[in-house]
Amino acid sequence: YMARFAPYLNEGDEFGGIIIVFQDITEQQNLDNLRREFVANVSHELKTPITTIKSYTETLLDGALESKDLSIQFLGVVNDECDRMSRIVRDLLQLSNFDNKEVKWEKEFISLSDLLLKSYTKLEISIKEKKQEIKIDVDDNVPLVYADKDAIEQVILNILSNAIKYTPENGFIEVKGVKQSEAVKIIIEDNGIGIPKEDLERIFERFYRVDKARSRDLGGTGLGLSISKRIIESHNGKINIESEYGKGTRVNITLPIKDNLDS
Ligand code: ADP
Repeated sequence: YMARFAPYLNEGDEFGGIIIVFQDITEQQNLDNLRREFVANVSHELKTPITTIKSYTETLLDGALESKDLSIQFLGVVNDECDRMSRIVRDLLQLSNFDNKEVKWEKEFISLSDLLLKSYTKLEISIKEKKQEIKIDVDDNVPLVYADKDAIEQVILNILSNAIKYTPENGFIEVKGVKQSEAVKIIIEDNGIGIPKEDLERIFERFYRVDKARSRDLGGTGLGLSISKRIIESHNGKINIESEYGKGTRVNITLPIKDNLDS
């Protein structure tokens, strides 16, 4: 608690006593801590690529430039690290737009099967590269959903690319669309590495990753799930993850059909 003191004057402008106001600042403190932690995380995430770029550039300047092969190899690393920084900054900007409530959704009636197929096409190369099997199955009775097409596509791409990234070669991915009474449900399931129980509850936090090194190697920013959650929840939908470590993961997304017509 924080206490504030103020003198109290009576009608004759004489000192009448002291007013003490107690204010519960736990919430404010929690927010401050979260903010501090977030800034520390952002700095750390950006520091890693900067360190790499710096050391490779120095080595080039120190003479590695003489060798064309080395130069190409090192510049490739520098280029990749710049891409990583761009991804982090892009995701951070999007989250900060959400925080500032600047987002305007362009809602329209969209077809889930079109969206799932389009997302699949965009990721087809990585699926084939990993020789994974994928099954996409949208029930015939699934209605159109009133939602922002690009935003929902971003969520599906993110969840589906996670399924690909965190499932070994020859793995299996299943995508389903089913109708519920007032909502449509999208299920994206894989038989990949899974998420340990103790990590599951924190998985939607910004920058939270089960295995930082693995996520980095796979090009992740650790922000995809938090962005997806924000998008789905601002469409009055829900997203949750079930997983068994070593067995696989299932992401459930529900989007209301009519409920959000006027939002
Ligand atoms: P990233 O960019 O690291 O993939 P996300 O926010 O998309 O960030 O996911 C956060 C973390 O959740 C990942 O680093 C990974 O540890 C875990 N994760 C997400 N999807 C899956 C999945 N399908 N299987 C296993 N782990 C997953």
